[in-house]
Order: sequence, then C-alpha cells, then structure tokens
Amino acid sequence: MFAKEEIDQILDSYDDFTIATICSHSALQIFHGAKQYSIKTIGICTEESRELYESFPYATPDELLIVDDYSQIPVDELRERNSILVPHGSLVEYTGDGIKDLALPIFGNRGSLLFERDRNNMFDWMEKAGLKVPRILQPEEIDGPAIVKFPGAKGGKGYLVVNSPEEYYQKVAEGAKTMIQEFIVGVRAYIHYFHSFDGDAGYSTNYGNVEMLGIDQRMETNADEIARQLSVGANIPISFTVMGNQSLVLRESLLPKYMEMGRGICNSSKGLFGGIHGPFCVETIITDDLDIYSFEISARIVAGTNLLGNPYSLYTHGTEYTTGMRIAKELKDAFRNKNLGEIIY
Ligand code: AMP
Repeated sequence: MFAKEEIDQILDSYDDFTIATICSHSALQIFHGAKQYSIKTIGICTEESRELYESFPYATPDELLIVDDYSQIPVDELRERNSILVPHGSLVEYTGDGIKDLALPIFGNRGSLLFERDRNNMFDWMEKAGLKVPRILQPEEIDGPAIVKFPGAKGGKGYLVVNSPEEYYQKVAEGAKTMIQEFIVGVRAYIHYFHSFDGDAGYSTNYGNVEMLGIDQRMETNADEIARQLSVGANIPISFTVMGNQSLVLRESLLPKYMEMGRGICNSSKGLFGGIHGPFCVETIITDDLDIYSFEISARIVAGTNLLGNPYSLYTHGTEYTTGMRIAKELKDAFRNKNLGEIIY
C-alpha cells in the first residue's frame, strides 16, 4: 500500500489543487460540482469518449488527458497538475487492486475501497454497524428464493435466483466462488450519504458528521419490467443489470432509522480501516413489516447521485445540491484550512 506519509508529502507540495477523475460513471457531476467552486478539473479520457465529455459546457473538464484505456492512470501528469483523484465506480473497477499502490492523492480513504471489494468484509462491516442483513446461505441451506452473486460481478450482471440446493447445483458450475443470500422481497432504496470531518449538518459521528443527500432506486433489467415480460408470456430468467436510476423519497418516519444507519456505518468503519470520508451509499430493501435489510455498501460516490430533484440535499444545504458539489466544497474547505490530509488517502 502506498504510504499515507508519502501522500501527505505530495499534498504538502501542492500550492493549489485540481480535481481529476476518469470520464465515466458520475464524472459529469463531479466536474460540474468542482466548477461551482471554481476548482480546475481534469478528465482522464479515451479518444472515443472525448466528444461526449466536450459536449456539456457546464460539466466539461478544463483539460482532458487522453489515454488508450482507463487502466492507465497518468500519474506523473496528474501530479504535475496538483491533482486529487475522485474515485467513482468505474475508476474503482478499472484500477482494481492497483488502487492501493497509486502514487496519487485520492479523495477519501483508499483503505475503504479495498475493504469493500470483498463481500465477506462488507457483511462484517454492516453487522458491526448494527445493520440488519440478509441471511448468507450455504448451498444446502437454500430453503426459498436465494440470490447467487459471483465475485467481481458488477452492476448485478450475471446473478441468479435459485430456490433449492438442487437448482443451485444444476445452475452453478462446480467449485464456483459464490455468495448466496436470502432473496429479500420488498422495495429497494439506495441512500446517498456524505461523511464530513468538520461539517455541521446531519447526525454527529465519532469523527465528524454524516449528511443524507439523496435516495435513488436503480432500474434493473429485466427485474423491473418483469410484469411486462410475464404479460406477454415470455419465459426469460430474472436479471439485475443496472441501466439507470430514478429518484425516491421515503415516508418520513423511516428517516431516523436511515440516519442512525449512516452513523453506524461511519463509526464502525473507523475501527475497521481508519474511517470513511466523503460520499458513500447503502443499498437496502424495505419489507412489508418496514424492516430494513442492507445488502451492500459502496464506499464512494454512486451513480444514483447523478439525479437532481431529491429533497434531502435541499433540506441539508438550502438549495438543490449534488454530491459532486459537496465533494468540491469539502475539498475546498479542507485546502483552505490546511486539513487535506484528514480526508485524503
Ligand atoms: P448488488 O450487486 O449487491 O448491488 O445487487 C444487484 C441487485 O440485485 C440489487 O440492486 C437488487 O435489485 C438485487 N439484490 C441484491 N441482493 C439482494 C437480496 N439479498 N435480495 C433481493 N434482491 C437483491
């Protein structure tokens, strides 16, 4: 792992900073947010994506660094430009385990990104945070609908739902490394939080405060259109490939539970890997009894934050406010107060 002390030395050498990220996932939102705070932006971009990222005047980065593919992060060029890298889902995916050795300041804690890569770690984290989680099953324990997740599967692609041990053994290759979870029936809600080390909104944590900025629901093919599929008699297996997101608000009586959950996630993360800074998301399902089950934490900005029109950021910041803007504000304040080292690794 690239040493924290070396990251702090790099930060000490910055007399100003730029925000950089890979042109994918939530990059337009991140660039737009930085522009609201007059922070210079750099997009790491392929030639193929250049036209798209040059076509939104209010979200186009100030400079594009063209790469052949996104696994190549131009570290030296980014360091010359005093860059702080903002991680999102695609960046985490493209850099893989290599993120731990990246010789660049990364907004947040790279330890959290490594930790969440392992589903068993993530369940441990959720349980320590006091969250209710689906049962994790061995194949022989499958006694009703169960969702089978494969390592590395992203965006829900390739998951299976099985109902018995026999069906599992019939559909899953022998020796495949899977996690089998009880399939929770209910309504999904994906909560966007932001941990700030010196903010004043939201719930307090052991090392700052946690705000709620929004909630989305992912749109997944073909699970979310299953009624149409059944109505035409199509017999296509259920799948969970994310294709977009829509905004959601919760009945207000559920909010205290979700705020407590956000606090629990932050407080427990401190002992596990040194704490979480900036945006994160918990994926939940609310049952008919209003029990909240959590099945995943993303320790970085999620694509559902690309939505505008959710009231929770308005109630927190007094205006329609994106996670991209919140990241920019946190970095700008920390830079001004010479505290960047607190929220960067
Ligand atoms: P994930 O890769 O864990 O984000 O899961 C992808 C999608 O699968 C989710 O957005 C849900 O629609 C569905 N899903 C995941 N875990 C469960 C579960 N335990 N019960 C029901 N649906 C689930």
